[in-house]
Amino acid sequence: AKKDRRASIKMFQPPMLFSRQLHNQMAAELRDAIAAGEFTLYYQPVVELATGRIRGAEVLVRWNHPERGMVMPDEFIPLAEETGLIIDLGRWIMRTAVLAFARWRTVIPLEDDFRLRVNLSVAELQRIDLVDYVREVLRDSRIDPAQLVLEITETALVTGGDVETYSLLSLKSLGVDIEIDDFGTGYSSISYLRTLPVSMVKVDRSILAGTNGDISRNEFIAAVLQLIRAAGLEAVFEGIETKEQVDRLLAMGCTSGQGYYFSRPVPESELLELLGNSVSL
Ligand code: C2E
Ligand code: CA
Ligand code: CA
Ligand code: CA
Repeated sequence: AKKDRRASIKMFQPPMLFSRQLHNQMAAELRDAIAAGEFTLYYQPVVELATGRIRGAEVLVRWNHPERGMVMPDEFIPLAEETGLIIDLGRWIMRTAVLAFARWRTVIPLEDDFRLRVNLSVAELQRIDLVDYVREVLRDSRIDPAQLVLEITETALVTGGDVETYSLLSLKSLGVDIEIDDFGTGYSSISYLRTLPVSMVKVDRSILAGTNGDISRNEFIAAVLQLIRAAGLEAVFEGIETKEQVDRLLAMGCTSGQGYYFSRPVPESELLELLGNSVSL
């Protein structure tokens, strides 16, 4: 038995060392990539469900890797968060997106209710200087703060301490809106979320997934929507992939959402084309 144990320990060690090495190597690569400007922003329209009219866009980052091609955020955001690199990356994302938005407004007549949505990691929310940075970007871009929405995951909000609360309150006082992201994946109660300075809730796509023709799931979605409304918040559904889902949400009185059915995340040039034409249904 003793011998077996040693054998299993031996077998376990090399992969751990390897993964530590790989981890460090990837972190170094990520650091260089930020310095080299290898990131690019995609935008996914958020639409009015009844008409397909574009009401805003969510900013989604990609790593345009010289050898690996387009790397998706799930592959590097967790590492960026773990290493603290998300602070520099997040600042670049915020500034680039908001300045791009300020530029669009000079080429396309955007509606006043168009909103740009930027994702914020909990590590960013934990920075006491986050609000100063956002204030600076707003000043430099001269956009209306009400046109900026910051998406923060439910889990990040629930684990929030003093600095997070300070950040939320100061962001709110700047006039930007806070949205709870990935709602339905955490364990928060809506009564707790009501105490936070948030005004919108983005319902996680897992809530909607696989819903076609499923009655109990239908009631579940309706209940989620009811909760959000009862808390006085606006609901946005993500991950809408089919016409059936659109119709179902409309029947429940839900007004806005996003998903592949309307548009995948697209580069800036394509977003501008969509904005020129409006999304075809
Ligand atoms: P998220 O904030 O929940 O973003 C929505 C994700 O769902 C995006 O994945 C989007 O491409 C995908 N999606 C949109 N519509 C559909 C649909 O109809 N069906 C399906 N199956 N998926 C859909 P993406 O771009 O890979 O981003 C993944 C996650 O990475 C994001 O989840 C967010 O947590 C994080 N992320 C992306 N960009 C940023 C960023 O700029 N900053 C931070 N902190 N996190 C980011
Ligand atoms: Ca989001
Ligand atoms: Ca989400
Ligand atoms: Ca997510």
